[in-house]
Amino acid sequence: MSDIMKMGKNPNYLGSWDLEEQPNREVILTIDNIRDEEVVTNGKTENCTVCYWTDHAYKPMIMNITNKKRLCKLYRTKETEKLRGKSVVIGIEKVKAFGAVHDALRICPRVPQIRTAALPKCSKCGADIMPTNRMTAEQIAEYTINKCGRPLCAACCTSSTKEAQNAANQG
Ligand SMILES: [Zn+2]
Repeated sequence: MSDIMKMGKNPNYLGSWDLEEQPNREVILTIDNIRDEEVVTNGKTENCTVCYWTDHAYKPMIMNITNKKRLCKLYRTKETEKLRGKSVVIGIEKVKAFGAVHDALRICPRVPQIRTAALPKCSKCGADIMPTNRMTAEQIAEYTINKCGRPLCAACCTSSTKEAQNAANQG
């Protein structure tokens, strides 16, 4: 059985049909390398620029001129070496061609947000507890909970320790 929508497409490279299962039909991928190679589609050989991903679960993507421009604009470089390790959002856009509308793979014009774990907050001033050279933010939170009874940033920990000392001296 053949899926008529996939017929005539090259199954060795990423296509819009590969994103059908993704939320918003988008995927965030990290560039491993970009190189030119011979691509054979329906018996025709073409020299194409192909982008390989660090996540090998995803097929490499043939880069057309639109996506090349998007990529260069996104990271302000044309150097493939500088693009290595950069992440992109791949989505699907409707493109009009030869009087019909097609789904086309597009590099979205936004740098993907790499989610970082939220830093613990200072219970006094509400600021993020920042890591130091010696301790992570979580270690500082734990240390201040032991010392002051609640998670504090370095500044609040110092001031509340002084307050406690003053109170002890006056008492
Ligand atoms: Zn604080």
